[in-house]
Amino acid sequence: MPAYNIVDHEYDVVVVGAGGAGLRATFGMVQHGLKTACITKVFPTRSHTVAAQGGVGAALGNMAEDNWVWHMYDTVKGADWLGDQDAIEYMCREAIPAVHELEHYGVPFSRTPEGKIYQRPFGGHMRNFGEAPVQRACAAADRTGHAILHTLYQQSLKHKAEFFVEYFAIDLMMDESGCRGVVAIDMATGTIHRFKGHTTVMATGGYGRAYFSCTSAHTCTGDGNAMVARAGLPLQDMEFVQFHPTGVYGAGVLITEGARGEGGYLTNSHGERFMERYAPTAKDLASRDVVSRAMTMEIREGHGIGPEKDHILLHLEHLGAEVLHQRLPGITETAKVFAGVDATKAPIPVLPTVHYNMGGIPTNYMAEAINPQPGRPDNVIPGLMAIGEAASVSVHGANRLGTNSLLDLVVFGRAAALRAKDLIKKGMAHRPLAKDAADLALARLDRIRNANGSMTTAQIRKNMQRTMQNDAAVFRTSKTLKEGCDKMAQIAGSLADLKVVDRSLIFNTDLIEALELENLMACALSTIFGGEARKESRGAHAQEDFPNRDDENWMKHTLAWVGADWKVKLDYRPVHTYTLTNDVKYIPPKARVY
Ligand SMILES: Cc1cc2nc3c(=O)[nH]c(=O)nc-3n(C[C@H](O)[C@H](O)[C@H](O)COP(=O)(O)OP(=O)(O)OC[C@H]3O[C@@H](n4cnc5c(N)ncnc54)[C@H](O)[C@@H]3O)c2cc1C
Repeated sequence: MPAYNIVDHEYDVVVVGAGGAGLRATFGMVQHGLKTACITKVFPTRSHTVAAQGGVGAALGNMAEDNWVWHMYDTVKGADWLGDQDAIEYMCREAIPAVHELEHYGVPFSRTPEGKIYQRPFGGHMRNFGEAPVQRACAAADRTGHAILHTLYQQSLKHKAEFFVEYFAIDLMMDESGCRGVVAIDMATGTIHRFKGHTTVMATGGYGRAYFSCTSAHTCTGDGNAMVARAGLPLQDMEFVQFHPTGVYGAGVLITEGARGEGGYLTNSHGERFMERYAPTAKDLASRDVVSRAMTMEIREGHGIGPEKDHILLHLEHLGAEVLHQRLPGITETAKVFAGVDATKAPIPVLPTVHYNMGGIPTNYMAEAINPQPGRPDNVIPGLMAIGEAASVSVHGANRLGTNSLLDLVVFGRAAALRAKDLIKKGMAHRPLAKDAADLALARLDRIRNANGSMTTAQIRKNMQRTMQNDAAVFRTSKTLKEGCDKMAQIAGSLADLKVVDRSLIFNTDLIEALELENLMACALSTIFGGEARKESRGAHAQEDFPNRDDENWMKHTLAWVGADWKVKLDYRPVHTYTLTNDVKYIPPKARVY
């Protein structure tokens, strides 16, 4: 092993990630008197949470009668009966104090005339068990994620949490007793840091960047998921990936559904309004899944736009400049900045775009990570927690409802702090680390830094992203998934031929991107192999050859282990169909209604 300059740290808790989940956990830990380090590869307020717009769901009942039990029912149903009902009960009940807490911490929520938190309706949120839409999304204008993230960062600073900014976590330190901490590189100096903690919390966000087109930031590379996979632990329900039909081609930035609501429509390379064929009644306003699937079929059949026939056009120009500037000013600007298109004169190139990863590190409702053992499907890994988009609690099951992610960040960030308070006694001594505790991480760093093959990170990443977009997106058949698995196995194998040009340790983005690519690969493989194995359609996993949900055989969580040889092993664990209290009963699956 070459000599790296290693610095050691000791904390009660090490949080990896400073998005909404990581920050809520960090300052909760400090509030409970735990010495806490928060490690983040980007400045905290640049985390992807900043981009969330719509709102955070909680049955406050500020605008009309509401009830957390109705919220729970909607969430179980939205998750297509793959969510764990104990965790969903916990989230929907705790939503109310969690949002009030946010208000007291200073989140500048929009207000009703009486001064209460303003709430807007959102897809899938209903009153009285599906009767009619209810206003449940607590909003700070259209910048709710921005408002929450900044407030939580300010609170963290107030409580004197210790931040390690632009530190990139490479791998976990594990021993027979469980997780002992993480190894990270300070990107500015190249020094290696071993962070020892009684508890390590993964709050590293999603992995949208495994696909060619996604709405998430370039930093969403599934690092935490991959660290867990490399530690020999399973990832859960990775095949469930939520898509939005209209991301700007190439950039992935979101064009709201409102654009089609105002009369926008889609065309293929023949200028045909193809949605009329797929959904004769709703046409371009069919549900997100239906539109995304139709667009993908057109592209697969060779009717896509452009030299690579790989996108679709969204027309707004017929609406006229006045309507666009009045009703869709943000979209008009987005089209100009990200597609170079004047939407008043020309159509916008769009593509179904990855929006959210339901799968991740399996945990219980107290945020503790799980490593199932024979006869013990809920076996906890000592010292390891996961929260936010990196985790699979699982409150979103097979499909997430809008506004439930911001909610999951704060509820389970808070739950992690509450659990850590119970588990860690103040001043509890640390056992010494094994001498070789950082070896796995350093060997990997060294191998990649000196990679001397013939393919660049960008080439391999593009192959992965294109394959995932073509074969594991909204349109899935046994054939595409099988072909995709074979291609992905080959692309993962090509990492052995990786070339990294920059061998330095000071702000080496070539190296960091290569580390991120390996992380994405573990996520992509578990996604496509899990999808290939699941012979049903449920939530975001719509398998054309198995169009129905099959509760008898498939109401179970997928577990995927990704080996060092990139081989994927699958197993399953039961869905929690029980609740925590007697306040509500198990919600039985019903036929899907579209
Ligand atoms: C465009 C967009 C709009 C959305 N709108 C909504 C909405 O209206 N309502 C809603 O509920 N949800 C919405 N979502 C989903 C929601 O915003 C995200 O799921 C959520 O913000 C994820 O938060 P997080 O804390 O888990 O991760 P992130 O906010 O992604 O933060 C991840 C953190 O981990 C750190 N990190 C990652 N890897 C490493 C590493 N190797 N070393 C060190 N640090 C690392 C990063 O620096 C970062 O601080 C939206 C998502 C997008 C993309």
